[in-house]
Amino acid sequence: MATRMQQFVRLPQQPPRKRDAASRRADFHEIYTDFDIPAAREQASRCSQCGVPFCQVHCPLANNIPDWLKLAAEGRLEEAYEVSSATNSFPEICGRICPQDRLCEGNCVIEKGYDSVTIGAVERFVTDHAFARGWVKPPSPVAENGHSVAIIGAGPAGLAAAAQLRRRGYAVEVFDRHDRIGGLLTYGIPGFKLEKQLVQRRRALFEEAGIRFRLSCEIGRDVGFAELREKHAAVLVATGVYKARELAGPGSGLGGIVPALDYLTAASRKTFGDAVPAFDEGTLDAAGRDVVVIGGGDTAMDCLRTAIRQGARSVKCLYRRDRANMPGSMREVKNAEEEGVEFVWLSQPEAFLGSEKVESVRAVRMHLGLPDASGRQSVEPVEGSHFTLPTTLVVKALGFDPEDLPAAFEAPDLAQTRRGTVKIDHRSFMTSLPGVFAAGDIVRGASLVVWAIRDGRDAAARMHAWISAQDAAAGPTATGPTATGPTATGPTATDRAA
Ligand code: FAD
Ligand code: SF4
Ligand code: SF4
Repeated sequence: MATRMQQFVRLPQQPPRKRDAASRRADFHEIYTDFDIPAAREQASRCSQCGVPFCQVHCPLANNIPDWLKLAAEGRLEEAYEVSSATNSFPEICGRICPQDRLCEGNCVIEKGYDSVTIGAVERFVTDHAFARGWVKPPSPVAENGHSVAIIGAGPAGLAAAAQLRRRGYAVEVFDRHDRIGGLLTYGIPGFKLEKQLVQRRRALFEEAGIRFRLSCEIGRDVGFAELREKHAAVLVATGVYKARELAGPGSGLGGIVPALDYLTAASRKTFGDAVPAFDEGTLDAAGRDVVVIGGGDTAMDCLRTAIRQGARSVKCLYRRDRANMPGSMREVKNAEEEGVEFVWLSQPEAFLGSEKVESVRAVRMHLGLPDASGRQSVEPVEGSHFTLPTTLVVKALGFDPEDLPAAFEAPDLAQTRRGTVKIDHRSFMTSLPGVFAAGDIVRGASLVVWAIRDGRDAAARMHAWISAQDAAAGPTATGPTATGPTATGPTATDRAA
């Protein structure tokens, strides 16, 4: 059944309905409703099937967007799913949380004067529909290849690599210090952007395919990095970046000033129904409090909107630049404003006041100066413009740096960049240690889920190429089940899968 494309002239852009702000404030469920089949088909049919699809060029996964939009428009949803999942390990996740306004949709060149195709929403619908119809299969291999690999980190980079390697027949063990898989998808990004059961749904498929998760297991503490290298044909480091940047200034060590990720992790755990003492005692609960979040990125937006949902009395964002110069997605700023967040632009904290616990923040107004070498405008304090905001909970969301992995792993030869990220050869994805590869935020610095997926997939391909080359160099007897086979790393005391 052929459907005419280029319907943008006739059909306006109609993204999925957004729940009203009052109902959003009351729970942690996603704020966008789903397309139904007719709506998804209509919106997909708006695509003009560009000869040079800039949407695809600006998708980090180079997704074949025009093709799956056409298939979706024609109602050939299973084929649309096959095409979209050929390049993307988690299309249902990217469809929800990619900053599409900066990536695919922001570069949709449909025709001047017409709004972009709702690419993310169609991608999400197609994959959710595929799950509902049982078309999404576990990443099972056709045959085992006799080698095992270890992956450190069950975030999107590690998981994308795990699926690719398992498909190729590797015995895959994924280690994570958390008790659930997902990395920041689980203990970072809140449920109102990405509901937690989506990651659990993937976990079930991964386990069905035979991928082994070693959870609550920190490499460098519970299991040695050297031990992993010894037992596996190759190791992938996909540990993300977690060292929170600190606030400076008098009083920055007062009680009631908390790191963003502690705050968001506690909130996520509560949605799972876990006991979280620091939350239950009130340290990480915003209910009834005047909350100030410091920062202007996605993490800050997530903290602000979490505080609203926890029933804070007031929620303010203190950011030293203005709306046009903030790193967070405009879509999320708008959502936050609708939900009741107040943005205090061009303001920087100078001191935190209180005896033991914070009672107020003293801040100063900033103005934007001339652009620096990178093109970014500098910020200068405005003399005599101090003001004070009362608060009993300050959340620090200033960004993240990598932890010192060579120290944590007792691997001094693991080379780092000047920024402290793990250094790799960008063609082979290999670190300075033979057989050790790295992917995701630990290589790029804090980035995006879609880039972590891309890196995980690419790293898996390079790991396979490297192991195959080792086999070939060692001659015919080296292949087949070996000491690095699936059973080589038997259960350990730290195998506490949740
Ligand atoms: P992570 O997701 O950080 O996963 C790394 C995993 O490694 C973790 O589970 C960690 O527990 C584990 N680990 C670390 N060290 C060890 C060790 N020694 N032993 C065992 N396990 C270890 N991106 C978007 O695209 N859209 C968004 O809307 C978005 N929102 C965000 C909101 C917040 C609050 C934050 C913090 C980030 C957000 N991001 C967003 C960025 C995105 O989450 C990351 O870029 C992405 O998760 C990186 O994936 P990763 O696999 O490299 O690392
Ligand atoms: Fe757009 Fe992200 Fe999907 Fe690529 S993966 S098409 S950037 S939503
Ligand atoms: Fe379709 Fe827009 Fe991509 Fe062109 S840029 S192929 S109109 S989605």
